[in-house]
Amino acid sequence: MLNQKQTRWAVEQIMLLFPDAKPSLDARTPFQIAVSVLLSAQATDVSVNLATPALFAAYPNPAAFAKATPAEVEPYIKSIGLYHNKAKHIVAMSQKLMTDFNGIMPQTMAELTSLPGIGRKSASVILGDAFNVPAFAVDTHITRIAKRLKIAKEKDSVLQIEKKITKALPEDEWINGHHAMIYFGREVCSARQPNCQTCPLLEICAFGQDYVKQS
Ligand code: SF4
Repeated sequence: MLNQKQTRWAVEQIMLLFPDAKPSLDARTPFQIAVSVLLSAQATDVSVNLATPALFAAYPNPAAFAKATPAEVEPYIKSIGLYHNKAKHIVAMSQKLMTDFNGIMPQTMAELTSLPGIGRKSASVILGDAFNVPAFAVDTHITRIAKRLKIAKEKDSVLQIEKKITKALPEDEWINGHHAMIYFGREVCSARQPNCQTCPLLEICAFGQDYVKQS
Protein backbone atom coordinates (compact mmCIF):
# COMPACT_ATOMS: atom_id res chain seq x y z
CA MET A 1 0.00 0.00 0.00
CA LEU A 2 1.17 3.54 -0.69
CA ASN A 3 1.79 5.65 2.40
CA GLN A 4 0.53 9.25 2.64
CA LYS A 5 3.70 10.72 1.16
CA GLN A 6 3.61 8.35 -1.81
CA THR A 7 -0.12 8.95 -2.28
CA ARG A 8 0.44 12.70 -2.42
CA TRP A 9 3.30 12.23 -4.89
CA ALA A 10 1.16 9.99 -7.12
CA VAL A 11 -1.82 12.38 -7.20
CA GLU A 12 0.48 15.34 -7.81
CA GLN A 13 2.08 13.51 -10.76
CA ILE A 14 -1.41 13.09 -12.18
CA MET A 15 -2.10 16.80 -11.59
CA LEU A 16 1.10 17.64 -13.48
CA LEU A 17 -0.13 15.55 -16.42
CA PHE A 18 -3.48 17.38 -16.50
CA PRO A 19 -2.87 20.89 -15.14
CA ASP A 20 -5.91 22.27 -16.97
CA ALA A 21 -8.39 19.59 -15.90
CA LYS A 22 -11.75 21.19 -15.21
CA PRO A 23 -15.43 20.28 -14.80
CA SER A 24 -16.92 18.86 -17.98
CA LEU A 25 -20.57 19.64 -17.22
CA ASP A 26 -21.89 22.85 -18.82
CA ALA A 27 -23.73 24.80 -16.13
CA ARG A 28 -23.72 28.43 -15.04
CA THR A 29 -25.27 28.70 -11.59
CA PRO A 30 -24.78 26.55 -8.47
CA PHE A 31 -28.33 25.28 -8.94
CA GLN A 32 -27.68 24.33 -12.57
CA ILE A 33 -24.48 22.57 -11.49
CA ALA A 34 -26.54 20.59 -8.96
CA VAL A 35 -29.11 19.62 -11.60
CA SER A 36 -26.37 18.62 -14.06
CA VAL A 37 -24.58 16.56 -11.42
CA LEU A 38 -27.84 14.83 -10.52
CA LEU A 39 -28.46 14.06 -14.21
CA SER A 40 -24.94 12.72 -14.71
CA ALA A 41 -25.41 9.67 -12.44
CA GLN A 42 -24.80 6.59 -14.60
CA ALA A 43 -24.78 8.78 -17.71
CA THR A 44 -22.06 10.53 -19.69
CA ASP A 45 -21.37 14.23 -19.20
CA VAL A 46 -21.73 14.61 -22.98
CA SER A 47 -25.31 13.31 -22.88
CA VAL A 48 -26.12 15.68 -20.00
CA ASN A 49 -24.62 18.68 -21.82
CA LEU A 50 -26.76 17.91 -24.86
CA ALA A 51 -29.97 17.96 -22.81
CA THR A 52 -29.41 20.82 -20.36
CA PRO A 53 -29.58 23.88 -22.68
CA ALA A 54 -33.26 23.24 -23.50
CA LEU A 55 -33.97 22.09 -19.94
CA PHE A 56 -32.52 25.26 -18.38
CA ALA A 57 -34.22 27.47 -20.98
CA ALA A 58 -37.57 26.01 -19.88
CA TYR A 59 -36.71 25.81 -16.17
CA PRO A 60 -33.95 28.29 -15.30
CA ASN A 61 -34.12 28.10 -11.50
CA PRO A 62 -35.54 26.17 -8.53
CA ALA A 63 -38.72 28.27 -8.49
CA ALA A 64 -39.56 27.16 -12.03
CA PHE A 65 -38.81 23.47 -11.36
CA ALA A 66 -40.71 23.54 -8.06
CA LYS A 67 -43.94 24.40 -9.90
CA ALA A 68 -43.46 21.63 -12.49
CA THR A 69 -44.44 17.98 -12.29
CA PRO A 70 -41.87 15.26 -12.99
CA ALA A 71 -43.91 14.31 -16.08
CA GLU A 72 -43.44 17.83 -17.45
CA VAL A 73 -39.66 17.66 -16.92
CA GLU A 74 -39.19 14.16 -18.35
CA PRO A 75 -39.37 15.04 -22.07
CA TYR A 76 -36.31 17.29 -21.67
CA ILE A 77 -34.16 14.56 -20.15
CA LYS A 78 -35.48 11.45 -21.89
CA SER A 79 -32.19 10.95 -23.73
CA ILE A 80 -30.42 10.47 -20.36
CA GLY A 81 -30.52 7.20 -18.41
CA LEU A 82 -32.81 6.86 -15.38
CA TYR A 83 -34.70 9.97 -16.47
CA HIS A 84 -37.88 8.97 -14.66
CA ASN A 85 -36.29 9.03 -11.20
CA LYS A 86 -34.06 11.96 -12.06
CA ALA A 87 -37.09 14.10 -13.01
CA LYS A 88 -38.68 13.23 -9.66
CA HIS A 89 -35.51 14.13 -7.77
CA ILE A 90 -35.00 17.44 -9.59
CA VAL A 91 -38.55 18.57 -8.81
CA ALA A 92 -38.33 17.37 -5.18
CA MET A 93 -34.90 19.01 -4.74
CA SER A 94 -36.26 22.28 -6.13
CA GLN A 95 -39.29 22.19 -3.84
CA LYS A 96 -37.07 21.62 -0.80
CA LEU A 97 -34.77 24.43 -1.89
CA MET A 98 -37.78 26.75 -2.08
CA THR A 99 -39.27 25.73 1.27
CA ASP A 100 -36.11 25.27 3.37
CA PHE A 101 -33.39 27.37 1.71
CA ASN A 102 -35.19 30.38 0.14
CA GLY A 103 -34.38 29.00 -3.30
CA ILE A 104 -30.62 29.26 -2.72
CA MET A 105 -28.22 26.31 -2.95
CA PRO A 106 -26.70 25.62 0.48
CA GLN A 107 -22.92 25.40 0.82
CA THR A 108 -22.38 22.66 3.40
CA MET A 109 -22.13 18.89 3.00
CA ALA A 110 -24.87 18.28 5.59
CA GLU A 111 -27.36 20.65 3.94
CA LEU A 112 -26.58 19.50 0.42
CA THR A 113 -27.02 15.83 1.29
CA SER A 114 -30.39 16.66 2.87
CA LEU A 115 -31.65 17.45 -0.66
CA PRO A 116 -33.46 14.70 -2.58
CA GLY A 117 -31.18 13.01 -5.11
CA ILE A 118 -27.95 14.48 -3.70
CA GLY A 119 -25.54 12.01 -2.11
CA ARG A 120 -22.05 12.62 -0.76
CA LYS A 121 -20.34 12.37 -4.16
CA SER A 122 -22.73 14.84 -5.82
CA ALA A 123 -22.48 17.19 -2.84
CA SER A 124 -18.67 17.13 -3.08
CA VAL A 125 -18.82 18.03 -6.77
CA ILE A 126 -21.25 20.88 -6.04
CA LEU A 127 -19.10 22.20 -3.16
CA GLY A 128 -15.96 22.16 -5.29
CA ASP A 129 -17.29 23.27 -8.67
CA ALA A 130 -20.01 25.70 -7.59
CA PHE A 131 -18.48 27.22 -4.46
CA ASN A 132 -14.77 26.42 -4.58
CA VAL A 133 -15.13 24.79 -1.16
CA PRO A 134 -12.48 22.05 -0.76
CA ALA A 135 -14.09 18.66 -1.33
CA PHE A 136 -13.00 15.46 -3.04
CA ALA A 137 -15.62 13.47 -4.92
CA VAL A 138 -14.75 9.83 -5.59
CA ASP A 139 -16.20 8.45 -8.82
CA THR A 140 -15.59 5.18 -10.69
CA HIS A 141 -12.39 6.51 -12.34
CA ILE A 142 -10.90 7.58 -9.02
CA THR A 143 -11.93 4.32 -7.36
CA ARG A 144 -10.22 2.29 -10.09
CA ILE A 145 -7.03 4.38 -10.04
CA ALA A 146 -6.81 4.35 -6.23
CA LYS A 147 -7.11 0.56 -6.16
CA ARG A 148 -4.67 -0.06 -9.01
CA LEU A 149 -2.10 2.23 -7.45
CA LYS A 150 -2.70 0.71 -4.01
CA ILE A 151 -3.69 4.04 -2.54
CA ALA A 152 -6.70 2.05 -1.34
CA LYS A 153 -7.44 -1.59 -0.65
CA GLU A 154 -9.60 -3.61 -3.03
CA LYS A 155 -12.44 -3.76 -0.48
CA ASP A 156 -12.31 -0.08 0.52
CA SER A 157 -15.53 1.93 0.20
CA VAL A 158 -15.67 5.24 -1.68
CA LEU A 159 -15.69 7.02 1.67
CA GLN A 160 -12.51 5.22 2.76
CA ILE A 161 -10.88 6.15 -0.57
CA GLU A 162 -11.95 9.77 -0.11
CA LYS A 163 -10.47 9.81 3.41
CA LYS A 164 -7.16 8.27 2.31
CA ILE A 165 -6.69 10.79 -0.50
CA THR A 166 -7.83 13.85 1.44
CA LYS A 167 -5.55 12.92 4.35
CA ALA A 168 -2.58 12.73 2.01
CA LEU A 169 -3.32 15.78 -0.14
CA PRO A 170 -3.33 19.44 0.99
CA GLU A 171 -6.86 20.89 1.01
CA ASP A 172 -6.08 23.38 -1.74
CA GLU A 173 -5.30 20.48 -4.10
CA TRP A 174 -8.53 18.52 -3.54
CA ILE A 175 -10.62 20.11 -6.30
CA ASN A 176 -7.90 20.09 -8.97
CA GLY A 177 -6.73 16.64 -7.86
CA HIS A 178 -10.26 15.30 -8.33
CA HIS A 179 -10.55 16.72 -11.85
CA ALA A 180 -7.05 15.61 -12.85
CA MET A 181 -7.72 12.04 -11.66
CA ILE A 182 -10.90 11.90 -13.75
CA TYR A 183 -8.98 13.04 -16.86
CA PHE A 184 -6.25 10.50 -16.03
CA GLY A 185 -8.87 7.75 -15.69
CA ARG A 186 -10.40 8.64 -19.05
CA GLU A 187 -7.18 9.14 -20.99
CA VAL A 188 -4.43 7.05 -19.35
CA CYS A 189 -5.61 4.61 -16.69
CA SER A 190 -8.76 3.55 -18.50
CA ALA A 191 -10.78 0.55 -17.34
CA ARG A 192 -10.10 -1.70 -20.33
CA GLN A 193 -6.81 -0.63 -21.90
CA PRO A 194 -4.64 1.43 -19.56
CA ASN A 195 -1.61 3.07 -21.19
CA CYS A 196 0.78 1.66 -18.60
CA GLN A 197 3.81 1.69 -20.93
CA THR A 198 3.86 5.48 -21.00
CA CYS A 199 2.38 6.13 -17.55
CA PRO A 200 4.67 8.16 -15.25
CA LEU A 201 3.40 6.10 -12.30
CA LEU A 202 4.48 2.73 -13.70
CA GLU A 203 7.50 2.53 -11.36
CA ILE A 204 5.23 2.46 -8.28
CA CYS A 205 2.31 0.57 -9.82
CA ALA A 206 2.36 -3.23 -9.43
CA PHE A 207 -0.88 -3.54 -11.41
CA GLY A 208 0.66 -1.63 -14.31
CA GLN A 209 3.89 -3.64 -14.19
CA ASP A 210 1.91 -6.91 -14.39
CA TYR A 211 -0.22 -5.48 -17.19
CA VAL A 212 2.88 -4.54 -19.21
CA LYS A 213 4.38 -8.04 -18.72
CA GLN A 214 1.20 -9.72 -19.90
CA SER A 215 0.61 -7.51 -22.93
S1 SF4 B 1 0.77 2.13 -14.57
FE1 SF4 B 1 -1.14 1.58 -15.63
S2 SF4 B 1 -2.52 0.83 -14.04
FE2 SF4 B 1 -0.84 1.94 -13.03
S3 SF4 B 1 -1.63 4.01 -12.78
FE3 SF4 B 1 -0.47 3.99 -14.70
S4 SF4 B 1 -2.00 3.53 -16.28
FE4 SF4 B 1 -2.93 3.02 -14.30
